[in-house]
Amino acid sequence: MVKIIFLGSGGGRYICVNQKRATGGFIVDKYHIDPGPGALLRALEKNIDPKKLKGVFVSHRHIDHCNDASLMVDAMTNSLNRKKGVFIGSKNCSDLLYPEEKNFLEGYYLLEKNDKVSLGDMNVEAVETRHMEETGIGFKFYTEWGIISYTSDTEYFSGLKAHEGARILILNVTRPRKYRIPFHLSTEDAVELIATVKPELAVIIHLGMRMHPIAEKEKKFIEEETDTKTIIGDLGTVITMEKDINISKI
Ligand SMILES: [Zn+2]
Repeated sequence: MVKIIFLGSGGGRYICVNQKRATGGFIVDKYHIDPGPGALLRALEKNIDPKKLKGVFVSHRHIDHCNDASLMVDAMTNSLNRKKGVFIGSKNCSDLLYPEEKNFLEGYYLLEKNDKVSLGDMNVEAVETRHMEETGIGFKFYTEWGIISYTSDTEYFSGLKAHEGARILILNVTRPRKYRIPFHLSTEDAVELIATVKPELAVIIHLGMRMHPIAEKEKKFIEEETDTKTIIGDLGTVITMEKDINISKI
């Protein structure tokens, strides 16, 4: 069984400061992805022991994705007492960690699109994005129960076909219908991508200020247009994937 725990559905510069939605990223198995502001606090609040983490991933060097990265590496290594775990980031993440933190990691990788890393229990592939942080990457996780894919921040382009094969697709849908901005996905883009990838489950996160108050309505629209089960990855949402995919809350 593979478990995903969401530590918030917020994103963008306003939400990460006002915390109307949490911005802690999400955990796949024991790998913490995009630990934004409050990631450590949100994890502790949900009784998740960060010392059990096996890795910290940062898709790109924007504060709503990487603010707590260094802190999570400290937590993972039991405050720099135990050498363990991996850090995976985009090329621009080279100065995110302190030198002493890097010394306490078992693996440190800065990836470009199509790069692959084998972590033993799963393989990870970097997926191209189109974003202001030009080295930004999405992640495709190859687990024993199938593929989980994460777009990260990107605008819609044909390269997102690379997410095909995913059983679960996690999309950063910053903006609602009629409010598309460059370098980000809107509701319309999410519909397009989900229709292309055809996952069993779509999860929308990284909701910005315009999306925040109408997110339920936008989620329903995506679900109706694509005929694909779609949820918002709010704080405490848990997905388990084995033969079936189940959703619960902690
Ligand atoms: Zn970004």
